[in-house]
Amino acid sequence: MRRHAKQDREDKYASRRDYQQVHESFGSRLSKDRPIDSIKFVAELKLPVEPCRGGIGGFIFTPTSTAAVLRTRLAGVLHEREFQSGPAWSRFGLGFSVSESTTVVAELIFQSPQDYVDLWGLAIGLSHFPQHGSDEVPALAELNVAHLAPETFYLDHEADNITMLDDVVTRQTQGSPIELKKCSYCGRLLPIGPGQPGRLSFHKHNAKPSGHQNECRACKKWRINNSFNPLRTADQHNESGLITRERRLLLREPEILQSIKDRQGRGLKSITWDRFQRRCFYCEKPLTLKQVQLDHTRPLAYLWPIDEHATCLCAEHNNHKKDKFPADFYTPAQLERLSQITGLPLADLQTRDVCEPQLQRIRADIAGFAREADARAFNAIARKVREIRPNVDLWDELRAADIDIYAQVRDAADRRPTDDIPELVDPEIDEQLAALEY
Ligand SMILES: [Zn+2]
Ligand SMILES: [Zn+2]
Repeated sequence: MRRHAKQDREDKYASRRDYQQVHESFGSRLSKDRPIDSIKFVAELKLPVEPCRGGIGGFIFTPTSTAAVLRTRLAGVLHEREFQSGPAWSRFGLGFSVSESTTVVAELIFQSPQDYVDLWGLAIGLSHFPQHGSDEVPALAELNVAHLAPETFYLDHEADNITMLDDVVTRQTQGSPIELKKCSYCGRLLPIGPGQPGRLSFHKHNAKPSGHQNECRACKKWRINNSFNPLRTADQHNESGLITRERRLLLREPEILQSIKDRQGRGLKSITWDRFQRRCFYCEKPLTLKQVQLDHTRPLAYLWPIDEHATCLCAEHNNHKKDKFPADFYTPAQLERLSQITGLPLADLQTRDVCEPQLQRIRADIAGFAREADARAFNAIARKVREIRPNVDLWDELRAADIDIYAQVRDAADRRPTDDIPELVDPEIDEQLAALEY
């Protein structure tokens, strides 16, 4: 019973990190008694409170290459877009503005008739943009940029609201295989292949297991590059946040925090708060539980995961302490007191060392670890380890263990943030870690 609950949690945890998992699926094959020169389909759009953006789009595979047109008439105005289709999955989309509830009839017209047409994620809908820094509705021209459509309309490609008009399509069967991956930001399942990496909804990323980045190209654009994203200036901050988060996950902190909660009936933050008389250990200022910042005591950067020896600090002193060893931050008298409160031997608090069991775990499967880690986090860990143990070079060990993974991770780690759009911070993981602490 208990085992089962734990399993569920682990599944849930895994599902939040499955942005690199490749899902195999199939297109839907449309065919009829003669070659298809056009496909007509329809959906109802119910307008929310105010005028907004919408779109039509999807992914297509045809047995031969052809020029094609996506066409619709909205409020008496004809909209159309040309695109190419062929025997590799490709994308098409058309954005529009809507100001009333309406029936949208759209048509795909093929210059060369096709024996069949495979579609995946054909969608007509209103755009639900992910949250961003402003309320501004993106300009239609901006949404309709060919290399971002249809992802940028934020349609639900798994919605089932489209009706094929019967006189056009007589049969619907399983079509060509397609590979999908979840976007870490909008959460949609979108295509990555098969075929040339970076061609469909995600930019390629050599160091990732799927060969693709975590976020779809539209989220990347809106979140990172676009004018309505103020976060660009915060790259540095995001980057160090990312490395901290990666370290916490790689050192299995969610599992540690959960097991403390299971054993003690409450979270580590609340336990530590009481243990430190509800005060910042450094300045002795009284703290509410909400104000408590859990400090790792021995630094996370040197592979010490959070545990029951954590220190209760205020935000200011947690920020000052950061990656410092206790011996470099506290007075000898404070170290003694910290030893009494946390139960860690004074000698341990006076030593500057990496966490041996964690280091051994990493070295035992260095290629597997490097594959799981973000390249920049791997690099940061290797640097910290070498600082304490000049003879241990995780990069050398990785190269000896697996030259291909070494090359991929090295390449990704060497890229400057400006060359490679930084990975998105993942607020879900922060929330999850915080929830486990209490
Ligand atoms: Zn996305
Ligand atoms: Zn303080």
